[in-house]
Parts: sequence; C-alpha cells; structure tokens
Amino acid sequence: MIHIRPWQSRMVGIVLALAAISIASAQSVSSDAPARSVIVRVGRLLDVRSGTYLTNAAISIVGDRIRAVGPADDVVKATPAGAQVIDLGGATVLPGLIDCHTHLMARISDERYGYELNLLMKSQAYRALEGAANARATLEAGFTSVRDVENEGSDYADVALRDAIREGLVEGPRMQVATRGIAALGQYHPFRISPDLAAFPTGAQMVSGVEEARRAVREQLGHGADLIKIYADWREPTLTVPEMEVVVQEAHRAKRKVAAHATTPQGIRNAVQAGVDSIEHGHGADRAALELMKAKGVYLVPTLSVVDASVAKTPQQWTSPRARSFLESMHQAVTIAKELGVKIAGGSDPAAVDRHGRNAEELEAMTRRGLTALEAIRAATTSAADLMGWADDVGSIQAGKFADLIAVEGDPIGNIVALQRVKFVMKGGRVIKNDFVP
Ligand SMILES: [Zn+2]
Repeated sequence: MIHIRPWQSRMVGIVLALAAISIASAQSVSSDAPARSVIVRVGRLLDVRSGTYLTNAAISIVGDRIRAVGPADDVVKATPAGAQVIDLGGATVLPGLIDCHTHLMARISDERYGYELNLLMKSQAYRALEGAANARATLEAGFTSVRDVENEGSDYADVALRDAIREGLVEGPRMQVATRGIAALGQYHPFRISPDLAAFPTGAQMVSGVEEARRAVREQLGHGADLIKIYADWREPTLTVPEMEVVVQEAHRAKRKVAAHATTPQGIRNAVQAGVDSIEHGHGADRAALELMKAKGVYLVPTLSVVDASVAKTPQQWTSPRARSFLESMHQAVTIAKELGVKIAGGSDPAAVDRHGRNAEELEAMTRRGLTALEAIRAATTSAADLMGWADDVGSIQAGKFADLIAVEGDPIGNIVALQRVKFVMKGGRVIKNDFVP
C-alpha cells in the first residue's frame, strides 16, 4: 500500500484527480447531514474578557464550535428547532481552562532516584499509556488545552499522545508538545550516572555547541514538536546565549515558540536576550530580569502550585533559611511581575503521580501571591491561549471558537477553589463529563 501525502498529489496528476472526484462526492454525502446542534443553558456565564457574569445565559453550539452566546431567550429563539438542550441549572460556566506547563508523559516518584528509575524501568509503550491516563485526568479536571513542555525522556511519545487525542483514540486535552527538550550536556536529569553507562537514557536532548543546538531543534521539529523547550539554567546558567539564539532562530523560522526553563536572574536575562517567548518558573527573578521581560513582551509561567504541594507534603524540608528565602523570592517575583505588568500564563508543572488533574490548584496559588481571582482565571484562559498562539480558537466563550466549556457550583470569582471541583466538561461540543446529571 502506498501512502500519499497531500503535497505529493501534484506529481501524480490525473490518477489522483479522478480519485479526488470520488472522494469529493463521498464527502458531500456526509456534509449534507446537518452538524449536531446543542444548546447549553446555564444560570451564570463568566465572560473572562470583561470579568462580568451573564445570568440566565445560553450557548448555541454547532458541531465542535460555538455559534452564539448570550441571554438564554435570545439564543434559544435564534437556534433551529431540534437542538439538544443541556440544562446546567444554577451552575457557573467558564471557558475550558488551559495549563501552559504540563508534563503529561511523566509520573515520577518523589522517592530517591525516582527520576532515574522512571527512565530505567519503564518502556516507551508504558510511558505512552501513562500519558493517556494523565491526559484523561487533566481533561476531567476541566483543562481542555495544555502546552506540554517536554516529555522527560519518553522520546516522541508526546507527539503520539497528541495525535491519538486528535484522532479520538484516547480522551485528553488539545495539546501542544515540546517533545524532548534541549539542555546543555550534563546539565539536566539524570545527574551523576556512571560514565560507564554511555547509553543511559536522558531526560532531555543534551547538546554542546551551536551546531548541536541547531540540529536538536531541526530534529524535534521534524518529529512533530509544536514548540521548543530549553533549559537556560539549572541552579546556574547552562546553555550559552549563542546556543539559545540559534534555537530561537530555528524555531521562529518554523513559526514555533520557545519556552525557557529559567530560575536565576542571569539565566532569565540570557534567555530573554536570546529571544525566547516565555520564562518557565522564574522563581528567582529579580526586578531587572522582570523589567527586561516586560520590555520584550515575554510571558512568565510561574509554576507555583508544585512548590506549594511540596511544602504541604513535606513541611520539614522547607524550614531552612535557604528554603524560606527561596519561597520569599518566588512570592516576590510574582508580586513584581504583576506590578510591572509582565504577561502571566498559568502552568502547574505536574510530573509526579499525584499531580495530574490538580492543575486548578495553580490558580489558587497565583491568588496567594497577589493576583485577583479574575487575573488568575485569565492566566489560565485568555492569556494562556495568547501564549500558545491559539487565541482564535480557545480561551473564551465566543462565537467561532471551539465549544470548550466547564461548569462549577458556586462563584469562582469569590472563591477560586471552586475551580478545583469541576462538574461538567465539554470539549469541542462533546460532553466529557456531567456530574450535574443525577
Ligand atoms: Zn516543568
């Protein structure tokens, strides 16, 4: 059997033209069938752009997109008869949430050598199945899109997961995937493996020098990466500015963005100077680094909840002066970022067994550092969509966008924790979960 890609059709001419006619007629049969029409009625709808509630609202959906949204009476009147009605009663509807920093391929134990054992003991097939489980948990938690910022040594299993979700083989959020990530040789997990084990798998693609960095980007793009993830530092700056510049150059040429792990002021400045699109973590960002980010329009994805969860789980490990000052500088970074008007997108950084599906804790964590509930919700909707370059498709409930909706009981503006108990999820017009139905 010959697999013919669309771009090859020009070369094959007449034969394919004939085939195309029969395909076109086959398609016209299915497009004659009207796309499924659904009306979602709800007590309250949050317009995340204006920050206001619309009460007694309805959303009209045709196929996978929103056709209209507004007061229930108007929307129902304008919708052709025969539409299926989903009545969510007094619930509050929001756009599907977005997590800009996930690792769906990672279920790493926090035991000693957990990272190394994860690489050593699991096949790539098993890692992919873990990814499918994490994807489902994430979607059921109300996160209908994620930006997955490297797969922690699972080769290209994240591409496979993204594609399998698109094909409807497994349930999960819409994904952008970074594939392997790029780190300076010896500057990312696993550390201090015996030098005798030359082929021990690594958590990222290790490079040394500009040409290796360029090659890594080209390779990852060739295998389906939607964005590129780099490690600008690991406690100290690691990749050089020229190495990162070439990564940005190659990625931007392919219209892909670059996300940089950076926690030190110098690492952040290096990455921003190289032209990256977002700083991941930024926990040690000082005012100068944040001013530079503001000037260049670079996003901050502060990943706070993963730290909060660790503090809650093992408080005894967070009592040293060094740990306290880390927590204080992380708090300061977000406070100053808000004060300067640095763009912020939410990302929860789940990589452990118990973190997938708890993505909404990140919104609560952001409010603990001074963001209002509405700002935190925007960080996980409109801002996140903007960072991903998907603002036309997701991030708000508007005509023309994907029908990605969630519903909760209560008022998330008054109590952000309400978003940790999502009871209804719709993705692309399809109900994923509806706990309102008894
Ligand atoms: Zn991460």
